[in-house]
Amino acid sequence: MNGLRVSERSEALRYSVAVGSVALSLLARTALDPVLQDELPFVTFFAGIAAAAWFGGLGPSLLSVALSFVAAEWFFIGHGRAQFLATPHDFAMAGCYFLVAAIIVFLSNAMHKARECAASRQAEMEREIGKRRRAEVELRGAQDELEYRIRKRTAELSAAMEAQEAEKKALAHKSAELERSNAELQQFAYAASHDLQEPLRMVANFTQLLAERYSSRLDDDGREFIAFAVGGAVRMQALIQDLLAYSRVGARSKSFEPVDCNEAFGRAVSNLYASIGESAALVSHDELPVVQADATQMVQVFQNLVGNGIKFKGADPPQVHVSAVRKDDDWVFSVRDNGIGIEPRYAERIFVIFQRLHRPEDYPGNGIGLALCRKIVERHGGEIWLESQPGQGSTFFFSIPVDGQRTRIGEREAGK
Ligand code: ADP
Repeated sequence: MNGLRVSERSEALRYSVAVGSVALSLLARTALDPVLQDELPFVTFFAGIAAAAWFGGLGPSLLSVALSFVAAEWFFIGHGRAQFLATPHDFAMAGCYFLVAAIIVFLSNAMHKARECAASRQAEMEREIGKRRRAEVELRGAQDELEYRIRKRTAELSAAMEAQEAEKKALAHKSAELERSNAELQQFAYAASHDLQEPLRMVANFTQLLAERYSSRLDDDGREFIAFAVGGAVRMQALIQDLLAYSRVGARSKSFEPVDCNEAFGRAVSNLYASIGESAALVSHDELPVVQADATQMVQVFQNLVGNGIKFKGADPPQVHVSAVRKDDDWVFSVRDNGIGIEPRYAERIFVIFQRLHRPEDYPGNGIGLALCRKIVERHGGEIWLESQPGQGSTFFFSIPVDGQRTRIGEREAGK
């Protein structure tokens, strides 16, 4: 038989084969009849049944069993008599026949089932294999896509990182350059003001000597000119002193230590003793904290701010009050006065070196004090600012970090 399964063949063909095989079995039995006579009436029919069962399946095989029985009974058992199964012998033979036929049909059917089962299992496996292959192909595609994306993203990231690295390097280079030029400038300012001191002292001393020794020989104009020269030299000495102090803030400062601000304030006030006395100023303070700082510089800040509060007084005797409050990680100090006040638009400008809002004739000074304060406060990691209105006094604020941690700039400079 060919490889087709029973269910794949047409019904007509299967039943035709059943009928045909019964006919062939009949012919064969007839041909053998002279030899067999009454013996084995069903023998050839079993072959027909087997062929029908194998080729046609259950239905055609049952049909062939029935047809074979009728044909065998008619032609070879009863020999054309009207009554089927007349004798017990007939019944016995029929019983045997049906038993053997049933075995043939059953076996053949079981074999078909097994075959179909195996075939369907194989088909199922093939489907499964096909599915897996497709899934594998899809997976490989997805993997390739993923790898491509990862490569692309990695390339983008490394390009971005390279760019960032280059930017960082450029920035570091610039900042090193800036630091170097700042240090140079500071060194220059320090050296210039330091070296100027000596010749200036000579000018001041000798003009004073000139005034003392020769003023009797000079006329009024001469004496006035010498007085101008002496005054100029003294002012210049003060200016150079302040400049030196300013350039020293970063260049030659001590490292930070715990500083009791009450003491620093006290020293500032005693330095201002003369001007406080002259102007009958009232200088007061609340309890001040201990901070991590450069003690000398804290005195300078208090001295400049309190000094300004006294110097820029209004009509009333000056009153200056210093206090401090804790705000997050900072101590915020305030120096409040009742003086002439400042227009808010100058609030930034006055912290720039040599920037003054008044003529020296009205209020003496050289415009370095607040710049010096800012430099000192920033060195300590803090900030300085003010609140003021003309005629209503001024309050200068400055902050100093509580734990002295934000003092990197100052420490770096101090380490030089
Ligand atoms: P100087 O006191 O030598 O003029 P500063 O740097 O200390 O220099 O101050 C800059 C300017 O800021 C001053 O000339 C003054 O115009 C203004 N200023 C500073 N402190 C006060 C103050 N307490 N009240 C009013 N104006 C002030």
